[in-house]
Amino acid sequence: MNAAICLHLPDLFTALSLNRYMLSYDNITLESFQTSWLPEHIQAAMLRLDKIHPEVSGNKWFKLKYNIEAARTNNRNGILTYGGAYSNHIAATALACKEAALPCAGIIRGEEHKGQLNHTLQTAADNGMKLVFISREDYRHHKAGNTLYPGYHVVPEGGHNALGARGCEEILSIFPTTNYTHILCAAGTGTTLAGLINSAAPHQQVIGIPVLKGAQYLEKEITDLLHPGNNNRWRLLYEHHGGGYAKKSPALIDFINTVYQETGIPTDFIYTGKLVMAFRDLVQQGCFPANSNVLLVHTGGLQGNLSLPPGVLSF
Ligand SMILES: *Cc1c(COP(=O)(O)O)cnc(C)c1O
Repeated sequence: MNAAICLHLPDLFTALSLNRYMLSYDNITLESFQTSWLPEHIQAAMLRLDKIHPEVSGNKWFKLKYNIEAARTNNRNGILTYGGAYSNHIAATALACKEAALPCAGIIRGEEHKGQLNHTLQTAADNGMKLVFISREDYRHHKAGNTLYPGYHVVPEGGHNALGARGCEEILSIFPTTNYTHILCAAGTGTTLAGLINSAAPHQQVIGIPVLKGAQYLEKEITDLLHPGNNNRWRLLYEHHGGGYAKKSPALIDFINTVYQETGIPTDFIYTGKLVMAFRDLVQQGCFPANSNVLLVHTGGLQGNLSLPPGVLSF
């Protein structure tokens, strides 16, 4: 059924001539789910972007799509981007550039650890990304790289630019989604959320759950990426970061295991686990009126769970 719908849509990577079997809309599903804490008068469904690719899952592809296209059409020498050592964006950029046969370089925040790369960076390097390590201080102040890689198309950290948001405007049209009253998504840089806001229907509320503590700056970062006239139907809820970026508690881990047990949907401890937990808290606080039909966007990130000790998660 998926494939039939997809026939009428531009394939995610047609423009890039990427391997269409490896990366396409076809694997994405829209699944309604029930849990022990969801009352009957509220419906919920998960848009499974995590199914796009087993290793580099989720929203990152959407943010890269038009950036890669721009690098190509403008005959740039490659893609240059930025990120931390555990960045899903770095891993996704490396793989997408490999598929697009574009050179790429990643400026990595922090010193290299004696030649030992972690899983994310090793994967990026294996896929052909040139890694440049710079101190946190230099990373903050200079964002060096343009001089090392002249003529490269620069994608900011996390894919946060207008082309990134434009790719994310396609997320809500993979399936018919206008019947949803609310759209919930985790936010890092807010680029994905901006794309959702830009493409949501006028009757839909878009709610972002920042996973960083003190992320009030996101309000402006997101507003900068919005089309004019889209400013009222969205909000950020700042109280659901669970201690801060990549911070985890036994309660969160238990919750992720229970969600999987009850719904069969795996989530990650950095983004999507906190998203579903926020949803539960909002439901329990009575934030959703009767007959709400809530769409949660599963932005992927499951490979991040590999940094947990084995056996902690039940999947
Ligand atoms: C990067 C990432 C996000 C954050 O996306 P933004 O567009 O930066 O807000 C959310 N979920 C997952 C799984 C991610 O890897």
